[in-house]
Amino acid sequence: MTERLVVVGGDAGGMTAASQARRRRGADDLEIIALERGRHTSYSACGIPYWIGGTVSAVDDLLTRTPEVFRVAHDIDVRLRHEAVGLDLDRREVLVRDHGGGRELRLGFDQLVVGTGAVPVRPPLPGIEAPGVYGVQTLDDGEAVRAALEGGARRAVVVGGGYIGLEMAEAFIQRGLEVTVVEAAVAPMASLDPDMGHLVGRAVRGMGIALYCGEPARAVEVGPGGAVRAVLTADREIPADLVVLGLGVRPNSALAAEAGIRVGVTGGIVTDVRMRTASHDGVWAAGDCVETIDRVSLRPTAVALGTHANKQGRVAGINIGGGYATFPGVVGTAVTKVCHLEVARTGLRERDADRAGFRYVTATVESTTRAGYFPGAQPITTKLIAEKRSGRLLGAQIVGREGAAKRIDVLATALWNEMTVEDLAGLDLSYAPPFAPVWDPVLIAARKAWEAVEADVAADPR
Ligand SMILES: Cc1cc2nc3c(=O)[nH]c(=O)nc-3n(C[C@H](O)[C@H](O)[C@H](O)COP(=O)(O)OP(=O)(O)OC[C@H]3O[C@@H](n4cnc5c(N)ncnc54)[C@H](O)[C@@H]3O)c2cc1C
Repeated sequence: MTERLVVVGGDAGGMTAASQARRRRGADDLEIIALERGRHTSYSACGIPYWIGGTVSAVDDLLTRTPEVFRVAHDIDVRLRHEAVGLDLDRREVLVRDHGGGRELRLGFDQLVVGTGAVPVRPPLPGIEAPGVYGVQTLDDGEAVRAALEGGARRAVVVGGGYIGLEMAEAFIQRGLEVTVVEAAVAPMASLDPDMGHLVGRAVRGMGIALYCGEPARAVEVGPGGAVRAVLTADREIPADLVVLGLGVRPNSALAAEAGIRVGVTGGIVTDVRMRTASHDGVWAAGDCVETIDRVSLRPTAVALGTHANKQGRVAGINIGGGYATFPGVVGTAVTKVCHLEVARTGLRERDADRAGFRYVTATVESTTRAGYFPGAQPITTKLIAEKRSGRLLGAQIVGREGAAKRIDVLATALWNEMTVEDLAGLDLSYAPPFAPVWDPVLIAARKAWEAVEADVAADPR
């Protein structure tokens, strides 16, 4: 008998699960219906700032597969503007609102994948719901921001200096807007330690963006027509035609939670390693809406990144297709670019290490991306955090120019394999003048971190 798989959410997590399941089970064995409440499926949300800034010229470039391709080439029935508004897990039905057809229907399922993504954090500030305040999460959100720019917006305020906020701020500068970022913390990019975040702050200001740190937004002021007019902090009023929220995201798990699917401390859906929800048979979840495990702190975490969404969707799809796959958790590796500055991180920040109970040393080194004499050598700052005594690598952060960021992958691999900074300092990494100094910045930082571990033991041999 043909089973039916219903997927809720038509982007990375959901559609990767659908595609993988289809690879393993033909249409006569498994009918697949994907529900997407927006107007697009399988798009690159990661590319939205580059499309808004003009680096990517056409929105179509962000679309990986259209519903037509899914239908014809993969026998997957993608229904746009169809929102799942309720899940009845006892009757195994999804309550669907068809926004295009103006009707509601019930859709039965045998297997269900929840891939509802994340929602931008929207603090309860006066005026935050006003027209002109945008969270940027989906391609529909990106289109709304583009429409505001085409409608003549000239002054943009970004509330929160996380990576999405800063990517958007850069996009607005590229479009010739007057741009301000307000940030509650002492430095932007809270995914880094503040000492590394200050380097990013300097680059942001160097781009002509006004950046106010230690100044949380207090309210969004609304003009006579009801639209946004300014953002207020304790110290100033910043005129704004549009406001973008860059305060991070939280798992969009309300639909699942209302149906009784277990949600964890992070707000993400709890799954086992095969991406099966912990509470219901035949109900799977993947992507930004789920909680996973941080392999360094061993704590639950919710990390909204496309790299995880794709892997988790693949794992869910393989298992639904009758295979066997597991998702092993994360170490928190991420890269971004702010103007000419590359920013990368993996593992624990100092405050995460404190919270997890680790005692640690840090080492920060300044170096260059190529041999110092070689044309195009660029500055790179590398910070390592290592456990006292054992010297185990706990975290790493890199801020630098071209050629800096992807060095984080070596550090992420070391972290994943629980290497010590002593081991790391001895790694056989490549060298030639166009690519690295003879001592790669990763090796110098590891050596310095190991020296700090040894100095700590010497100072307190107990
Ligand atoms: C501006 C930006 C830049 C980013 N840059 C990077 C990057 O450089 N690297 C990286 O790894 N990650 C990046 N990300 C994160 C990455 O895009 C997400 O982690 C990834 O898209 C998550 O995929 P997902 O399928 O879990 O969720 P989403 O992509 O959010 O998709 C969820 C989908 O579900 C739909 N949906 C929600 N509820 C319902 C419902 N009830 N019924 C029907 N449909 C529903 C939504 O409309 C949405 O289309 C970026 C994200 C943004 C917004």
